[in-house]
Amino acid sequence: VSIWSAVPAGPPDPILGVTEAFKADKDPRKINLGVGAYRDDQGKPYILPSVKKAEEIVRSSQPDKEYLPITGLPEFTKNAALLAHGADSSVIKNGLVSVTQSISGTGALRIGGAFLARHYPHSKVIYVPSPTWGNHIPLFRDSGLEVRFYKYFNKETVGLDFEGLKADLRAAPEGAIVLLHACAHNPTGVDPTQAQWGEISDIVKERKLFPFFDMAYQGFASGNTTKDAYAVRHFVSEGHQIALSQSFAKNMGLYGERVGAFSVTTASPEEKARVDSQLKIIIRPMYSNPPLHGARIANTILSQKELYSQWEGEVKGMADRIIGMRETLYNVLTNDLKTPGEWGHIKSQIGMFSFTGLTTPQTKALAEKAHVYMTADGRISMAGLNGNNIEHFAESVNKAVR
Ligand code: PMP
Repeated sequence: VSIWSAVPAGPPDPILGVTEAFKADKDPRKINLGVGAYRDDQGKPYILPSVKKAEEIVRSSQPDKEYLPITGLPEFTKNAALLAHGADSSVIKNGLVSVTQSISGTGALRIGGAFLARHYPHSKVIYVPSPTWGNHIPLFRDSGLEVRFYKYFNKETVGLDFEGLKADLRAAPEGAIVLLHACAHNPTGVDPTQAQWGEISDIVKERKLFPFFDMAYQGFASGNTTKDAYAVRHFVSEGHQIALSQSFAKNMGLYGERVGAFSVTTASPEEKARVDSQLKIIIRPMYSNPPLHGARIANTILSQKELYSQWEGEVKGMADRIIGMRETLYNVLTNDLKTPGEWGHIKSQIGMFSFTGLTTPQTKALAEKAHVYMTADGRISMAGLNGNNIEHFAESVNKAVR
């Protein structure tokens, strides 16, 4: 008998499973709206020209392949914290951000989970929105935290359930951790307004909750990195200490390079040094030190003025193309096809994803009859739509809901 004969087969990943089904489909009209990766208007993966330039600069400097320090490339982590907090931030000016490079956003969240499980002195309970990015749940559980949910999405209005959110955060035990999507909430595309962030900050303060921001889409939501950092900066300016996960997968298109950062804001340089030392102790037995190449690319962009401006323009270009697709889809559905139902949320939702309101049977029918693939919860990646396929998509949705 094999040692592994009792290992049960696990379920396939719900998002990557969509890609499998898409690949197996031979119809030329097929559309994959499952995966959260940007595509250009030809439906092709997009390497940012600023990234290509940065790669040239890195290559021509002929850098060595020595190990990075445990917490990564120091210039990169400094610039990542600066991008999140802004140059005027008190925590930046006073050197209070303890930051480490990470294996993209997922790795940042995982370091954060482990750090909180070990050193957060209050509750080991983390509240995540319902729904949230699917991976948050096993990720925080495997880090040793207890995962609970706060209300976030209202199916009736296809918008934020703000009353439910506030009630659930008020009912959370004192000291609990709360995971907040900084912008471009995945999977719903629904973000709190600035006024609502203010109220959330007040409740977090009242209930002595600990805010952990997941910022996987800075710049990708509005097209402006400062605007998209509003929630993070507001909380810090309100005196909260925060934990922060950053990913450069989407805003620099560095998906497979795995570039990210995890940070916490501390109360003094001396405290920062202690936290720094513990981040190293957590990371060293996990993977020793992070990969070089992506961090060098990201840092080249973040540290060179001209390249930085170019990158800002390219982030805006990606965000604007997505916003344009939202407009077009809305117009085709409501004006041209007179599709039954209310579709305003397609336009008002933010970032890469839209929760369409399509039901699981409808998403199944779309795959089988129209070769249109999305996750079973009706989430579509807007970036998968383009000038060539949007009509087929809209017509297929129109048929599916009638
Ligand atoms: N958080 C959220 C909300 C996400 O949507 C993603 C990417 N799908 C991530 C974190 C992490 O992605 P990555 O590890 O590729 O940076």
